[in-house]
Amino acid sequence: MDSKQFKEAATSTIDEIITYFETLPQRDVVSSVTPGYLRPLLAPSAPAEGEPWSLIQSDLESKILPGITHWSHPGFHAFFPCATSYPSILGELYSSALSGACFNWICSPAVTELETIVLDWLSQLLGLPSCYLSTGPTNGGGVIQGSASEAVLTAMVAAREKYLLETIPSDLSEEEREDAIALKRAKMVALATTATHSSTKKAALILGVRFVTIPVTAATNYSLTAPALSSTLSSLRARGLEPFFLTATLGTTDTCAVDDFAGITSSLSTSPFPPGTPGEIWVHIDAAYAGAALVLPEVQSSTKISLIEKFHSFDMNMHKWLLTNFDASCLFVRDRKWFVQALSVNQAVYGNSASAGGLVTDYREWQIPLGRRFRSLKIWFVLRSYGVKGLQEYITRTAKIGEEFAEWVNEKKDLFEVLTGPSFALTVFRMTGKDEEERNERTKKLAEKINASGKIWITSTVLDGRYAIRFMTGVARTEREHVKAAFGVICEAAEGIVKGE
Ligand code: PLP
Repeated sequence: MDSKQFKEAATSTIDEIITYFETLPQRDVVSSVTPGYLRPLLAPSAPAEGEPWSLIQSDLESKILPGITHWSHPGFHAFFPCATSYPSILGELYSSALSGACFNWICSPAVTELETIVLDWLSQLLGLPSCYLSTGPTNGGGVIQGSASEAVLTAMVAAREKYLLETIPSDLSEEEREDAIALKRAKMVALATTATHSSTKKAALILGVRFVTIPVTAATNYSLTAPALSSTLSSLRARGLEPFFLTATLGTTDTCAVDDFAGITSSLSTSPFPPGTPGEIWVHIDAAYAGAALVLPEVQSSTKISLIEKFHSFDMNMHKWLLTNFDASCLFVRDRKWFVQALSVNQAVYGNSASAGGLVTDYREWQIPLGRRFRSLKIWFVLRSYGVKGLQEYITRTAKIGEEFAEWVNEKKDLFEVLTGPSFALTVFRMTGKDEEERNERTKKLAEKINASGKIWITSTVLDGRYAIRFMTGVARTEREHVKAAFGVICEAAEGIVKGE
């Protein structure tokens, strides 16, 4: 493809993308293809001769789009949003043109420096304490990761190395140290709650450390509180185990619960290794989805985000609820040396005078992979195009629609019971019934009926044995009228179930 052909192809691609978004409501949300649908539609091997763009492009509409589930569809109420926007798409376009594996500063100084700057902007916008700024008092800073799962793994590796450095005597011989590390690792425990996203468990699995969950229930609105944490810590320590890592969540996956940061701080302060002392527990805040709502000052105060000053890392996905396409997970650390000391592995080929001078950030030392994309560009475009006000308006609007939805559900007491929320544009509800069994059966049936309509897509979950439906209104193209129509679909399906249809 030469420049002229690229210009023509790109122009028609942009036209198609615009048409795609404008006609989205006419499509079904979820793809209805059957497994293996694609192979018979495509050639058995790559073409020997290059093909014209027009042919490739026409296959996109006829063969690929039928197998796409539309996460930007106004009827997408499942999981959490996976955002995109025109400025974000433009960021990706430039990023792919400037392609490079920008792991060291010298590999493209702007890639590193823009990332540091936009993450400082974001940190300020979210009201994070100044310790998470690259220019802050504790040498903190932010790094863009591919996903919240990658972020918690990165944080846990750093926490493990910090813990080992702090708790193993420094005067041991190399061999004694190896033995001490092996013994210690067998006792180290990563903690989360029963409502924490599974990525913390996966990180513990990958790192080969123990994983323990702290039970949380409806009684505390599924959030972690001081008594639950203190009791788990005491029982682990009584067994000779060594808790070194805790994921606390701002917006859990099932219900958007927020853990009690003040309670966590007070529980840890009275533990044998209080914050700030060697052997302290690293607290990672997983704000993958709801962290976006911190653009609102009132959410910064209601979640008490200033208290995370005592914690160690914080992660939120711009690619969920902040108009930036996947992937853009923004991980902040209170002291960047913790990442560097855990993840810096040198190889002669990567040495250069800028790195050796110590004045630059080499982001390969803050992450698991070596190479990295120019992801800050799309974040920069989004922050500049929407501005703080634009982002605040978007979060406020979609959260407000969620509140209205919860009111409508609440008004239909004969059919529904709200279990949690509305919290960060998420309401969790179930059907009424004569007993638990009937309520569960009806709710399960309702979820199936709603999704079978193809018009909207919701996900279900189970809370303490109670089958429930999650309804999320965070998608940018979702307006009140779409949610009103979705509620009509839900009510009709529920009435049918009650009548035994
Ligand atoms: N944390 C929370 C609270 C989530 O809800 C999710 C996914 O929805 C994740 C982490 C994992 O996100 P990612 O796909 O970025 O790894």
